[in-house]
Amino acid sequence: MDITDIPVEGYERVARCRDEASGLHALIAVHDTTLGPSLGGMRLWNYESEDEALVDVTRLARGMTYKSAVAGTGLGGGKSVIVGDPAEVKSPALFEAMGRFIDDFGGSYITAEDMNIGIADLRHVKKTTDHVTGLSREEGGSGNPSPYTAYGCVVGIEAAAEWRYGSADLSGKHVLVQGVGAVGGEMARLLKERGARITICDIRDEHVAELCAEHGYESVDDLVHLDVDCDIYAPCARGAGINDETIPKLTCDIIAGCANNMLLEPRHGEVLREKGILYAPDYVVNAAGIINVGAERLPGGYDEEQAMRRINRIADNLREVFELAEAEGIATNRAAEHLAEKRIAAARQPC
Ligand code: NAD
Repeated sequence: MDITDIPVEGYERVARCRDEASGLHALIAVHDTTLGPSLGGMRLWNYESEDEALVDVTRLARGMTYKSAVAGTGLGGGKSVIVGDPAEVKSPALFEAMGRFIDDFGGSYITAEDMNIGIADLRHVKKTTDHVTGLSREEGGSGNPSPYTAYGCVVGIEAAAEWRYGSADLSGKHVLVQGVGAVGGEMARLLKERGARITICDIRDEHVAELCAEHGYESVDDLVHLDVDCDIYAPCARGAGINDETIPKLTCDIIAGCANNMLLEPRHGEVLREKGILYAPDYVVNAAGIINVGAERLPGGYDEEQAMRRINRIADNLREVFELAEAEGIATNRAAEHLAEKRIAAARQPC
């Protein structure tokens, strides 16, 4: 196994691993451990080149630093990527080699699931390193993060409603949910329980029809979903949906959902502010997954009640972001960044 460090400015450690025996080609990036060891998922993707993988892993690791800093997980930011075709490269030997690579970081990087990686893969990783989270409850882990992420998003939507309307009560509020998968589906159900009127859209027509029949939602074709006149727009599918083309169509008061990297570019946060739409920054709203998995590291191990208490703090974190944005006259996505940087800088101060 060959592990080589790659110097990247602003990162504590970035390294490449090539292992001929298992075919592993992977990168790990640790961006910042000021607030604690870095935790971030392991992604398996068919990158065209190592350069492309390097851009992805460093961008994602930095994002985890900000997400964890605002969420108050006591963790830093890191990420790993395996280069390869998800349909071809997976094997126990590959993931065991990945575990040895992770172990080389001595605990400064802790892994979890990300795209194309499941619990079965993490079990192989766990054979060669202890720095793994997100295994099942039976195995001492915190289990599937999606229901927690969904609940955390509802907490975030209520906090945004309170800021915007002066009340967190969602009864009668019209919420448009784009993408009713693991998170969006559960989130829609919880919002309906709270009395909201729900319109859903998804590219899976049959799934939409089933959910509407079961829960009494309304539905709209994804291609025209922005024509729906809603109070709250909750993107829960893919990223980059808020852009120059879509913003002019938006008539909602609030954007809050679970989709990662919702804004195509950071400047779109400013465009939303000018338009008078309250944007609840994605990584503040969708942090419950990392909060839940991070709770595995609490003294005594994972405890759901304690994890839920931490997830409920998403409301306080968002309020802090909104207050900062208002006080500084800046967009909420910028305010979230400032809040993260402030927390990291405070931790760096000598006592
Ligand atoms: P998922 O794959 O279970 O659900 C995504 C849903 O979006 C699917 O039903 C899919 O059919 C639908 N979809 C895809 N493209 C669409 C389109 N153009 N229009 C409408 N619907 C479309 O994924 P998930 O786990 O629910 O995650 C959703 C988003 O939340 C992703 O951006 C993910 O990165 C983010 N997120 C998830 C978690 C988590 O705990 N699962 C945590 C943080 C962030």
